[in-house]
Amino acid sequence: MSDLKSSIRNVPDFPKPGIGFKDITTLLIDGPAFREAVDLLAERFRNQEIKKVVGIESRGFVFGSVIAYKWGVGFVPVRKPGKLPAETISEEYDLEYGTDSLEIHRDAITPGEKVLIVDDLLATGGTAQATVNLINRLGGEIAGIAFLIELSFLNGRQKLRGYDVLSLMEYDAE
Ligand code: AMP
Repeated sequence: MSDLKSSIRNVPDFPKPGIGFKDITTLLIDGPAFREAVDLLAERFRNQEIKKVVGIESRGFVFGSVIAYKWGVGFVPVRKPGKLPAETISEEYDLEYGTDSLEIHRDAITPGEKVLIVDDLLATGGTAQATVNLINRLGGEIAGIAFLIELSFLNGRQKLRGYDVLSLMEYDAE
């Protein structure tokens, strides 16, 4: 396995001072690294009869849709408020200052259907937890939650206790 971490660019103080932004666009422009990352995520959850891949806006769309295509299953976008055109349900989550929310189409998941949640990065876990809540409200069964990157010093995994959480790369400090 090549060193996927070497294809992630760390951008200090973006979008604000003190944040080390993990830029995945440097992985996306590297064809073999992009393919390897997608294949590793898909391999870990294959043969589990997953029927939908749920991608979180926006970088979760890039990886989630490719996994769905690979498996020949459906892709479901979870989006920022006001973007999805049909009937939605929404979940609020806490940001450092204030709150934000995420939405999913009410008819995107059938009760009992197995789903995989995909995003690029697990930080505090608020975004993924809101997505878990959306899927649970629709009656979906969460087979796993897959990330490329985990900022383990932020303990986001604790919010996702009880679920099968995979990350391909871990950072234990900024
Ligand atoms: P959280 O809800 O705190 O787990 O934040 C996760 C979301 O914010 C993901 O969709 C990431 O794309 C984005 N994010 C948070 N922190 C970073 C970071 N240091 N570098 C890149 N993306 C980040």
